[in-house]
Amino acid sequence: MAETSINIISLLKKQISDFKATSATEHTGTIIEAGDGVIRATGLSNVKSAELLEFENGTFGWALNLEEDTIGAVVLGESHGIKEGDSVKSTGRILSVPVGDGLIGRVVNPLGQALDGKGAIQSKEFYPVEKIAPGVIYRKSVDRPVQTGLRAIDAMIPIGRGQRELIIGDRQTGKTAIAIDAIINQKTENMICIYVAIGQKESKIAKIVAEFQKRGAMDYTIVVVAGASHPAPLQFLAPYSGCAMGEYFVDKGKDVLVIYDDLSKHANSYRQISLLLKRPPGREAFPGDIFYLHSRLLERACCLDQKYGGGTLTALPIIETQAGDLAAYIPTNVISITDGQIFLESDLFYKGIRPAINVGLSVSRVGSAAQIKAMKKIAGKMRLELAQYRELAAFAQFGSDLDAATKKQLDRGGRLTEILKQGQYEPTPVELQVAVIYAVTNGYTDDVAVEDIKKFMDDFFKYCMTSHSKLMKDLREKKEITEEIEKLLKHAIEDFKKIFKK
Ligand code: ATP
Ligand code: MG
Repeated sequence: MAETSINIISLLKKQISDFKATSATEHTGTIIEAGDGVIRATGLSNVKSAELLEFENGTFGWALNLEEDTIGAVVLGESHGIKEGDSVKSTGRILSVPVGDGLIGRVVNPLGQALDGKGAIQSKEFYPVEKIAPGVIYRKSVDRPVQTGLRAIDAMIPIGRGQRELIIGDRQTGKTAIAIDAIINQKTENMICIYVAIGQKESKIAKIVAEFQKRGAMDYTIVVVAGASHPAPLQFLAPYSGCAMGEYFVDKGKDVLVIYDDLSKHANSYRQISLLLKRPPGREAFPGDIFYLHSRLLERACCLDQKYGGGTLTALPIIETQAGDLAAYIPTNVISITDGQIFLESDLFYKGIRPAINVGLSVSRVGSAAQIKAMKKIAGKMRLELAQYRELAAFAQFGSDLDAATKKQLDRGGRLTEILKQGQYEPTPVELQVAVIYAVTNGYTDDVAVEDIKKFMDDFFKYCMTSHSKLMKDLREKKEITEEIEKLLKHAIEDFKKIFKK
């Protein structure tokens, strides 16, 4: 008798010690409503917010509404064939995407599945699409620049690694062009780039990818696409999944640049989903949590302290305005979340001032701390001269008798405006930017007619690269205009002026 009970006890002990708790909890529920890419189901009371669901046909769903008896979810993919009465499984997993080096050079959808026909993505790790942004303890202030290669931005509206800078403007004002040029210029900057295309025409995206390939930018770039023909839930997911892919590299201590093109279409996709999920509409029919939608995304941009690896994630969200209206709901929200904005205007674009940046309305609240010393020194003067020029130009329209000093200032402003014009795919290295701005702000071009400035600049760049490559290298490496460099730079400009032919 006693022996049997000992047997039972040892058996129980063994069973207890062998017991393994599995974390995957699967539950099955029933769909009670389906349509327009949205479902409602019962029997899934254990589901967590943002959990991945699986439908009978293998498609995934994303639980977004958790109510007392039912849950509301969106279908991530083909919703045909998902109907009332079907079963739906919870997976116990929060929605995550593949991350890693295997994604570089690839075009993927927001679930991390290949769209470029180059085979499945090789990846062992997954990151959740939603993550709490690193807290203030982990961060330090922005101190290194993102060189976009665009003279107007690097000089006047500098962006730092880890900053969030909004690109905002009406349709067809060159918003995407700025983002694309910034990515192309990262070739020598040791930066991983992620271009997230949300709700754009597929033909446009194909052109952008072709451009990246042509210029060798795919070597360090991931393109995440949820095009205009993709369902709204995928468009909604795209920026979060692009951000998660970037966070993997940030955790490895690398620098990452993420472009969200654009968040207006992202907000529209969320409005569509929310209305289908029967959430109450608010201002402009957007749901009440639309601010949180973008703030929780952009808060994930960061400049980590060296103690935590020192990685950075720079975010350049894009917003499309209607007739330049910055006071509309989504633009004001995103302006208030970011650390500054690059404001583009149709008027300037049509006048031929491209990139069509309104320098007066554009700011970068943290970037100047990250500017290299040489640029900081000359850009301050330039900003001041341009501001005075704008003020004077408004008055000068009325009369023609201007005194010599005013006329000189107007001409100087005209020349500065001229050197800030820049075509697409023509990035300028920072040392050349410094050299030309130095020449103009120090009066070396006062005897060059405004209409000849472009040629002057182009020829000067070539001259610097061929005849003064050592000086340019020094400027690039020392990052400041030392007395020695200044002396050589002056000589270089004077020598060039002797041979410059209009
Ligand atoms: P959308 O609202 O359609 O997204 P967008 O604001 O992103 O437009 P882009 O597509 O970047 O604008 O540019 C619009 C057009 O202007 C394109 O044809 C582009 O090639 C041209 N463009 C943009 N920037 C420049 C530039 N700096 N110089 C010359 N052309 C430019
Ligand atoms: Mg665009």
